[in-house]
Amino acid sequence: MPEATLVIRGGTVVGPEGRQRLDVAVRGATVVGLVGPGLVDLHTHLRQPGREEAETIETGARAAALGGYTAVVAMPNTEPAIDSAGVASEVLALGAGCAAEVAVAGAITVGRAGLALAPLGELAALGVTLFTDDGAGVQDGALMRRALDYAKGLGVTLAQHCEDACLAAGGAMHEGCWSSLLGIPGVPAAAEEVMVARDITLARLTGAPVHFLHLSTAGSVDLVRRAKAEGLPVTAEAAPHHMLLTDAAVAGYDPVFKVNPPLRTDEDVRAVVAGLCDGTIDAVATDHAPHAPEAKDVPFDQAPPGMLGLQTALPIAWSVLAPHLGPERLFALMSSQPAAIAKLTATHPRGGGHSAQGGPLEVGAAANLCVFDPGAATVVDPRRLASRSRNTPYAGRSFEGAVRHTVLRGEAVVIDAEAQR
Ligand SMILES: [Zn+2]
Repeated sequence: MPEATLVIRGGTVVGPEGRQRLDVAVRGATVVGLVGPGLVDLHTHLRQPGREEAETIETGARAAALGGYTAVVAMPNTEPAIDSAGVASEVLALGAGCAAEVAVAGAITVGRAGLALAPLGELAALGVTLFTDDGAGVQDGALMRRALDYAKGLGVTLAQHCEDACLAAGGAMHEGCWSSLLGIPGVPAAAEEVMVARDITLARLTGAPVHFLHLSTAGSVDLVRRAKAEGLPVTAEAAPHHMLLTDAAVAGYDPVFKVNPPLRTDEDVRAVVAGLCDGTIDAVATDHAPHAPEAKDVPFDQAPPGMLGLQTALPIAWSVLAPHLGPERLFALMSSQPAAIAKLTATHPRGGGHSAQGGPLEVGAAANLCVFDPGAATVVDPRRLASRSRNTPYAGRSFEGAVRHTVLRGEAVVIDAEAQR
């Protein structure tokens, strides 16, 4: 492992001085580990406003920092939805001073209802660069086409939760052998793939970029791979649970394994990993989706979908992907590439107390860092997570590597796996 000295002053990297050791100014302490740019999550449900019993912006940002993240994009499926400058400003204000920077994604349609376009221009003027109705896909193709035309003019990106509502109706897990065996209604892979195919077609028609959220099927990965080969402006992300868990996990009817899109088959998991390795999928995104115990602790078919992800994403990605990719490309998938998709990098100055995310770690760059110890282990204890909720599917599991320190704008917000704010 290469060694270097990183000198940080006033929130900025001011130099490598000497080449003898990896020396990060974490309150003067010398730390040994892998130093990468702070991670950036494109897909975080912070639940505030409206569902503060499940998460708040403060607790979610703390969980993010403990997971090595220095920035998260807050999804707009709050109550009310982030579909106006008023709500977006409220979330941005609540995010100021938290343990990680909070950017917001705006809704594509008013109230995420899929009927009328949200004021994209008003939100873009606030610095919102990513728009999605996540939790639902935009079902109306004509409306999506119009949104893409507007987005192209504004220089913003639409992100799609690909799910055809008619094909998915009534389903609670992946449609396949396990759903038949368990007697749980299924969501076919086609429910995702038809919308991926439609939006690739609309990207071709409009020339506007489309970002595909949480790809989960082999067919989706293949569609995006071909679209990229054609040169279309598409990007994609995948969640850690879709590169590790399969629908077999649902066998015990535990709602902690209910997620949308659902856990798929072994073949799909292999395809998602292959897509991350060959550049088809640009980013690992958590889809961190906290739910209060009283909401999640109900029969499987009635439980809301979603699982926690911020504090386990890097150890899982490290375990699954690092053997194929090595540390640098893994950090690209979790930091520079998602930062570029959300336009949080140095080339898109945001102001408002926000700094450039996604590296590179060079003189003059904002000191947003993640220090990861590949030799340690992360053992998941739900009671010790910073999130207000406990719905992790990994309770008791152990993964290779652990986040040791997180530095936000030069300040150590996590020291030795303990949050400082
Ligand atoms: Zn989604």
